[in-house]
Amino acid sequence: MATTVTLQDSMTREPREVSPIDGETYRFYCCGPTVYGPAHIGNSRTFVGQDTFRRVLECAGIATKHVRNVTDVDDKTIRESQAQGQTLGDFTKHWKDKFSADCVALNMLEPHIEPGAVDHIPHQVRMIEALIEKGNAYEKEGSVYFSVKSFPGYGRLSRVADRELKPGAAQTANDSDEYDKDSLADFVLWKGRKPEDGDNYWHSPWGEGRPGWHLECSAMSLEYLGETFDMHSGGVDLMFPHHENEIAQSECCSGTTFAHHWFHITHLLVDGGKMSKSLGNFYTLADLEEKGYTPEELRYVYLSGHYRHHLNFTLDSLLASRQAMNRLSRFEKSLAERAQTSKVPDYETARQAGEAGPFQPAFEALCRDLNTPDALGKIFTAIKSIDTKTLSQPIAAKLYQQYHFILAALGLQLLEKEENREDIPKEIKAMAEERWQARSAKEWAESDRLRDELSEAGWLVQDGKEGYTVIRK
Ligand code: AMP
Ligand code: ZN
Repeated sequence: MATTVTLQDSMTREPREVSPIDGETYRFYCCGPTVYGPAHIGNSRTFVGQDTFRRVLECAGIATKHVRNVTDVDDKTIRESQAQGQTLGDFTKHWKDKFSADCVALNMLEPHIEPGAVDHIPHQVRMIEALIEKGNAYEKEGSVYFSVKSFPGYGRLSRVADRELKPGAAQTANDSDEYDKDSLADFVLWKGRKPEDGDNYWHSPWGEGRPGWHLECSAMSLEYLGETFDMHSGGVDLMFPHHENEIAQSECCSGTTFAHHWFHITHLLVDGGKMSKSLGNFYTLADLEEKGYTPEELRYVYLSGHYRHHLNFTLDSLLASRQAMNRLSRFEKSLAERAQTSKVPDYETARQAGEAGPFQPAFEALCRDLNTPDALGKIFTAIKSIDTKTLSQPIAAKLYQQYHFILAALGLQLLEKEENREDIPKEIKAMAEERWQARSAKEWAESDRLRDELSEAGWLVQDGKEGYTVIRK
């Protein structure tokens, strides 16, 4: 399907058409997780956003090459692995596996390549050598730093030069991977070995040590996508210093444009504020599953907000998603019945069908700066205008295909989702249904009695306009 895809470019601050530089494959790099603990639902917002972007491109007929790294050596992974008394490799493998399981649960497509920084130490050393040779980096007491003043383009992406910087902080050498957001410092490329690094060091021309975090992404994107590629993406917090530093290192090495388009996803907030462990509002996918919500519902919450706006996550937003998905599910079921099929096409089959029919306005919304909330609204508009009961089998079969095309672009799974919820015991379902009937008949006392009974049994009912949902308390 030849639909133009546009997306805001954080570098130019304008929407730009997305099309492969080489005319064939759209090559993009996403900064991956730092594997030192479970991913939180903010991290997943960013990764699901990138996944949805890739799906939209592929549904629009554009081939992709998606690289997402794993940060398996940095200050945090080393510190935590030591605190746990584990080797860095064992420790990061554990969290990487957990992360991969979350990605599968959230129905993300596997990146084509998922490199880890530890496997690319020689690549990073080679880059540092080139930077020293070109006069962009200098050695100091066994560490190597990038000289910010040697790259006049520094700050172009984040407009850091326009910000108020801390007096005296400019042009000092800084060792930590994540330094103060308001200081403009020469950042570290190679960190000389320190006692607190334990056994985590490698050999280099500057002695034992380890690479700095920013360099990892420059080296791995160079290895798998080349000196210049289509797009680079991450959460908005990565714009400065991480992406600014990546641009500086890579462009000084190659002498050419690093990434042609920058895609940044705004942060997820919880209950209107920053997620934090001390406030008790820090959630992982496992936390939500324990409360009876599904990963599909979380994905729907992500899609209900535009990636350039803060997404305010609440538990209620998961319930609203459940109700919306129930409507989508009911439509899918009745369409499947008319089409006389029970087969749910997989992603490739759904995508290759290549047309959206009445869902074309929804697909176009996705192609316009990845407007997922608008696309969802347009799907509901289309659904409302279709009376499935009147459809002939061939027409229903075609619509079923077109519906799955738009669901594939969003990464929504519906039928499977209902099966996931089959763990609600029969008697609880029956009681909830009885309560709904009582409530609909305005028998309030009976309805309240049944609600209390459900509550005592550990279940919560939530009413909506057209029905109710039951979740574990
Ligand atoms: P990290 O594992 O900390 O390296 O982060 C992985 C990704 O999650 C990065 O692209 C971050 O920018 C992104 N990220 C971190 N916090 C949030 C948040 N609250 N909302 C959305 N994305 C986030
Ligand atoms: Zn990165």
